[in-house]
Amino acid sequence: MKRKIIVGNWKMEPTTLSGARRIWTKVRKVSNQLNSTYTVICPPILYISKFISKEKVVSPLISVGAQNAYSEDHGAFTGEVSPAMLQDMGVTHIIVGHSERRDMGETDEIISKKVQAILETGIHPIVCVGERERDEHGLYLETLKNQIKNSLAKAPKKLINQLIIAYEPIWAIGAKDPMDPMIIHEMSLFIKKVISDIYGHDNAINTPILYGGSVNFRNAKEIIEKGQVDGLLVGRESVNIPGFIELLKSVDSIS
Ligand code: PEP
Repeated sequence: MKRKIIVGNWKMEPTTLSGARRIWTKVRKVSNQLNSTYTVICPPILYISKFISKEKVVSPLISVGAQNAYSEDHGAFTGEVSPAMLQDMGVTHIIVGHSERRDMGETDEIISKKVQAILETGIHPIVCVGERERDEHGLYLETLKNQIKNSLAKAPKKLINQLIIAYEPIWAIGAKDPMDPMIIHEMSLFIKKVISDIYGHDNAINTPILYGGSVNFRNAKEIIEKGQVDGLLVGRESVNIPGFIELLKSVDSIS
């Protein structure tokens, strides 16, 4: 059975370690009882070591990810943290190319170097892509295609089985409503086609496509069922304990 992947991107929340521990403890307990769902929690970087046990294995059903990493293993890069360091901590996934980081100046080229470094450590990169706006001529499809190709430009083909794509139309992030699930389905097929053109049909079939943008416990199940995506990247709702727990349970109820 292919488990659905639910990634919680806590962004820069919560502001205390005790608050972070409270969310983590409750979410871990529920995640460990699920049957067909795999949870990845991406907290602010300094909480990561508090959540991962000394043995580095959290559980087969939940693990800890990071929200960003640098593209070099070590060196004179003040303020940065490398994929190698995160791998040593036991991190399994790293979000890369989130639109909020792209807004801070991250280009496709920077992202592709990060993707390469992450793949080489054995960690799953969750590569975020998505159009800023839609136009009636469909030019946004070309934009998306180029974004995917350029963000993966340095990704070695032999490691591509670790890749996860998160499709996040920027206008749907932090919004009131998510994208229509039928359109999410069309977009996930489009992304698979782009991956297939670069890495071949089998790699495209095996690459999980997540959707992100205003997902909550009310709409998560429908997005997965009608959008036919492999999972979700969840922002705000991932730090809302009752909402996120309901979301996990409703996704897990999909047969
Ligand atoms: C995000 O920032 O990746 C995101 C999906 O946020 P939200 O769920 O709050 O729209």
